[in-house]
Amino acid sequence: MEYLPIFINLRNKKCLVIGGGSVALRKINLLLKAQTKIDCIAMNFCDDLIALSETNDIDLVAKHFEPGDIRSYSVIISATNDESLNTLVSKIAHESGTPVNVVDSPDLSSFIMPSIVDRAPVVIAISSAGKAPVLARIIRAKLETIIPNAYGELAEIAGQYREKVKQRFNNIKDRRKFWEGVFSGVVAEKVFSGRSQEAVKELEKRLIETKEGGLGEVYLVGAGPGDPDLLTFKALRLIQQADVVLYDRLVSKGVLELVRRDAEMIYVGKKGGESSRQVEINKLMVDLANSGQRVCRLKGGDPFIFGRGGEEIETLSDNGISFQVVPGITAASGCSAYAGIPLTHRDYSQSCRFVTAHLKDGSDNLPWSEFVVEQQTVIFYMALTSANHVCQQLINHGMRKDMPVALVERGTTPEQKVYTTTLTEFSNLINDKEIHAPTLLIVGEVVNLREKLGWYGE
Ligand code: SAH
Repeated sequence: MEYLPIFINLRNKKCLVIGGGSVALRKINLLLKAQTKIDCIAMNFCDDLIALSETNDIDLVAKHFEPGDIRSYSVIISATNDESLNTLVSKIAHESGTPVNVVDSPDLSSFIMPSIVDRAPVVIAISSAGKAPVLARIIRAKLETIIPNAYGELAEIAGQYREKVKQRFNNIKDRRKFWEGVFSGVVAEKVFSGRSQEAVKELEKRLIETKEGGLGEVYLVGAGPGDPDLLTFKALRLIQQADVVLYDRLVSKGVLELVRRDAEMIYVGKKGGESSRQVEINKLMVDLANSGQRVCRLKGGDPFIFGRGGEEIETLSDNGISFQVVPGITAASGCSAYAGIPLTHRDYSQSCRFVTAHLKDGSDNLPWSEFVVEQQTVIFYMALTSANHVCQQLINHGMRKDMPVALVERGTTPEQKVYTTTLTEFSNLINDKEIHAPTLLIVGEVVNLREKLGWYGE
């Protein structure tokens, strides 16, 4: 980080602005929002600035700037197009230890002014450290569209009840749950639709009726194959709401970074899925939910595709714990998309089949002949250790030896690698390359399309 974002209280503090044109006017308008007192020095002042000074705490001083003009100001802004003057102001301000901003000159400034989304008392500041102001403005425009105007009012109401809620719930988790209910439920909706008085009544009602330590809940969430941008909105919302997150080996770092900072993180990864571990995980989820926590069970890909999601929620259901399931992008979808290999295509494949190559107890009881069908793509999950066996069995059951095969390694992540070969050549690939898990095996004519459709940089 090149700049530390801080919010500074300037209420009733004296600030100095040098310059009397439209840029100075913009900065003064901003300073007024923070309820500052302003001295403005310039030889000429634009009409709007003169008009503004008539109704606000602004002293317009018509003179040339001199070093002696810098007295004890909380902040100085130089908004002139005179480079030597800007340099002089910057120098004196730095010497006197006063924070200074020279408009459009980060080199002369000790602080820079961010783009802001103003929903006071909620204010969002965006900065690109002066490197891409246009990008900062685009981000700001995006935020403007997704953050309702009424958030400011909602935050004001919350501020009025903060102490009361603190007294009502002495447990911080109960308090957080109460506020989350307020900000994402009926109270917020009423504020958004302009019915603030009703919102306040609803809030007061909840304050009386909400019970401490209410029952927890479990969210079984698909984290997708790696790229955090592939999460669903719902997954993101629940990830950020959870008190505890139980995650697997396959959940990517990028996704884990989206978890609320103060949530407890429990790694429950297991190799090969030993069943005793599974029983422990199921029990842990039940215990956590019973203690009133909102538990997010994060699983790579989709929880219902080779993810044991069904078994986990069965235990929850048996124990009367409420739960939600959020689908994720399964490895087959993610890897095929990022490898440029459509799983179906009107010319080459009318169906696709997801198969686990993890052979239970080492025994091979897969229906191999069903995979050797024209116009079908077969996707093998958990295939790394048995990949040679898989290819050999397909050949033994009559698949053409030159059928194209793709091995997608760490799909959808910056480390993604895609190797394409044929069934007979596959063993050479495994011998020649150092392959990293997780990998997915795609078998079918569609693999040839990668040459034309591959798009993701590797
Ligand atoms: N529930 C998951 C699958 C879990 S089984 C899903 O829907 O994707 C684990 C297997 O998924 C791995 O052995 C590998 O075959 C595959 N897999 C998961 N993420 C992957 C990735 N990023 N790249 C390649 N294969 C992946």
